Amino acid sequence: MDILCVPHAKLGYTIVALLADKSSVISEIFPYYSKIKHEAMCSFRPYSCPYAGSECSVTGDIPYLVNHLRDDHKVDMHSGCTFNHRYVKSNPREVENATWMLTVFHCFGQYFCLHFEAFQLGMAPVYMAFLRFMGDENEARNYSYSLEVGANGRKMVWEGTPRSVRDSHRKVRDSHDGLLIQRNMALFFSGGDRKELKLRITGRIWKETQTPDGTCVPVLCS
Ligand SMILES: [Zn+2]
Ligand SMILES: [Zn+2]
Repeated sequence: MDILCVPHAKLGYTIVALLADKSSVISEIFPYYSKIKHEAMCSFRPYSCPYAGSECSVTGDIPYLVNHLRDDHKVDMHSGCTFNHRYVKSNPREVENATWMLTVFHCFGQYFCLHFEAFQLGMAPVYMAFLRFMGDENEARNYSYSLEVGANGRKMVWEGTPRSVRDSHRKVRDSHDGLLIQRNMALFFSGGDRKELKLRITGRIWKETQTPDGTCVPVLCS
């Protein structure tokens, strides 16, 4: 996508995004503000690669990044809006910080990244699972998701709104916006002798729509 930002000093900005096939042109008028601020806020600016395992400097639009994740990072791709995922780690007590390979889900014509990480929360080792939406924040608000983990009659459930990939995985993690599991509980849920992490996380993504009377109706995917 070529991005042309035409500053109209004091009158306003006209932002024209030419799509790849040049058949459609999106135009928005913005109030005047500095070019640098504009470039940081522009909704047509490219996205950074959401891969969390290592620093990756690739940027682009969402379809480009989906291909990049699949081809260059060998990320697991799934279709559908329910999932059942197992995270395994031997000797979990020796690892304080870890990032598992992310999984990409394709549903409602959109892409979502499921993250799973281990880190220290204060002095306590924890695991965290969360979802990021491959698109901007406004669109992300149309979706909800739930994550569930449990065993032996205990269960933890998280329900939230996916964060936009505009927010780094680090930022989401630091704001604790996801399913946080203390290591003790995670090993309890793993069963066995608590020597190995074997966590089964189930989840669901749905779309929220509003009926004319303001009632929220979850849309189930077919
Ligand atoms: Zn712009
Ligand atoms: Zn990348």
